[in-house]
Amino acid sequence: MRYLFVVVLMFWVWPVVAEEDWQLVLVNQWQALPEGYEVELTELRNDFYVDERIYPELQAMFDAARQEGIYPLVVSAFRDETEQQGIIDERVNNYMAQGYSWQAALDETLRTVAPPKYSEHETGLAVDINAENGDDQAVYDWLAEHAHAYGFIVRYPADKVAETGIDYEPWHFRYVGVEHATYMYEHDLSLEAYVEMVGDADSDLSE
Ligand SMILES: [Zn+2]
Repeated sequence: MRYLFVVVLMFWVWPVVAEEDWQLVLVNQWQALPEGYEVELTELRNDFYVDERIYPELQAMFDAARQEGIYPLVVSAFRDETEQQGIIDERVNNYMAQGYSWQAALDETLRTVAPPKYSEHETGLAVDINAENGDDQAVYDWLAEHAHAYGFIVRYPADKVAETGIDYEPWHFRYVGVEHATYMYEHDLSLEAYVEMVGDADSDLSE
């Protein structure tokens, strides 16, 4: 009886996570995109692509923002390995044009750009969002407060750099589903911390 209570309590406290929940796929500088990862893409209006499963809520979030006079604009979304490499090559060339050696240029570039297979953009679940009218801060503020209701999180918060390995990026949003996003928002958790927490909960329950 007491055991049952503990199990029920755990389900109540933590969102129930199915094993290998696609919404929680973790890609960061320590963890590459899973081998053979496949994504069904949907095209956005301005030539960007996202995982088709996140499109309805992304659209709903943008509609809600616009109704409040906030005009978000997707400026980057899905990128494949080739595009990710292209970004790196371009930055390296820019640094080399400024006199950096190839190695120094590469080192400098990798401080802010993830190498292929290590960018969350390759999941199709991440979007960079700015403002249509130039007022980026208003968009960041609105999204920071409301995105979780549509299943998105501020993926790289200012106070979580040690956990995420990425500097503060108020424009980068990651879809994790409404339930997970709301929990992370309310408990101030990074995706890294949350994935670890639910992983532990899963193994506790299966004992
Ligand atoms: Zn991004």
